Amino acid sequence: MTVENKKGRFGKFGGQYVPEIVMPVLNQLEEAYEKYRRDPEFLKDLRKYYVEYAGRPTLLYYADKLTKYYGGAKIYLKREDLLHTGAHKINNALGQALLAQRMGKKQVIAETGAGQHGVATATVAALFGMKCKVFMGAVDIERQKLNVFRMKLLGAEVVPVTTGTGTLKDATSEAIRYWAAHIDDTHYIIGSAVGPHPYPTMVRDFQSVIGQEIRQQIQQETGGRLDYMIACVGGGSNAIGTFYEFKDDAQIKKFGVEAAGRGPAIGDNAQTLSNPNSRPGVLHGAYSYLAQDEDGQVIEVYSISAGLDYPGVGPEHSMFHEQGVVEYVGINDKEALDAFQLLCRTEGIIPAVESSHALAYLEKLMPSTKPEEVVVVTLSGRGDKDVQQVAKVLGEEI
Ligand SMILES: *Cc1c(COP(=O)(O)O)cnc(C)c1O
Repeated sequence: MTVENKKGRFGKFGGQYVPEIVMPVLNQLEEAYEKYRRDPEFLKDLRKYYVEYAGRPTLLYYADKLTKYYGGAKIYLKREDLLHTGAHKINNALGQALLAQRMGKKQVIAETGAGQHGVATATVAALFGMKCKVFMGAVDIERQKLNVFRMKLLGAEVVPVTTGTGTLKDATSEAIRYWAAHIDDTHYIIGSAVGPHPYPTMVRDFQSVIGQEIRQQIQQETGGRLDYMIACVGGGSNAIGTFYEFKDDAQIKKFGVEAAGRGPAIGDNAQTLSNPNSRPGVLHGAYSYLAQDEDGQVIEVYSISAGLDYPGVGPEHSMFHEQGVVEYVGINDKEALDAFQLLCRTEGIIPAVESSHALAYLEKLMPSTKPEEVVVVTLSGRGDKDVQQVAKVLGEEI
């Protein structure tokens, strides 16, 4: 039995579309989040972990060499790659773990595909002394041995899921089933701004620290001048965290960059909002744009980057897309790889392949910019995890 609920809407998107057995635990979570999101003690604790554990505020770095290379607007990089565990995912994992602790939960669970969200969850579970189970498709476990070992080192149990195709979709279903059966002691940490209400709002709030810091830092750097913002979009958490603070600043052009993979054919990319074939539908508990085939079936999407390879997108992005608040664009594998190498050589920074999609959009944007203008690119993560894969694609032996 699926329950449909109109709570937590972004325009016509979002809501709750979940099995009836999950409703009690969602209601409990919603109530707790409503209480703690404005609780000064909770916010003070969260701030403390951001500063003392994760390494916030992250730098807003003026990329002088990259700016000179393009010869247009001044380029600043928001350095989420410098955070503990190497990406923005820790912002959300810390927030949800702290909330779970306040709710008296003893265990956190998560689903993971490439393993990045699993590692972030295992990290905060270790920090807060909670038990941790990470559901992972058996096929993904085989493909991502290093992250599986990382999670084990951090004390998490990795639960292999062999149903279906043995990948992320099946791991998600298994995590939901487990959650519904362990509602008293378990919190489910979702890794992006997706899922049923209250997740998209909660994840956005925890990631909004990115945009809030940019607001302060750009004031220092340019007296507040900011013309363009760019962030990559998988489920959309680093992008919503970047844009949310500036959603009413219509003079700032915002670009959400999706993975255009190896081409426009169905199944060859992971574009949901920048793809004329996508339509809204229900996936993982919410109504939002989805990559679908002609029959309305959600398709397996593809990208060189595991973090962008998701057939849906957070519901608030679907609303921003229809309202024109953010423009969604596509960058393909080759363009992302070129941007990856360019940042390594010009600035001495190895970016995540996900973040390289955002960087690659500079190639299209910069020719039309002026030197007095300012652009901020969110560097969602560092690329150490991607070096081996990049070497393989470039035909290098390592
Ligand atoms: C997971 C991940 C992403 C994509 O997730 P969003 O929720 O869209 O932000 C982007 N960059 C990095 C480095 C990631 O690990």
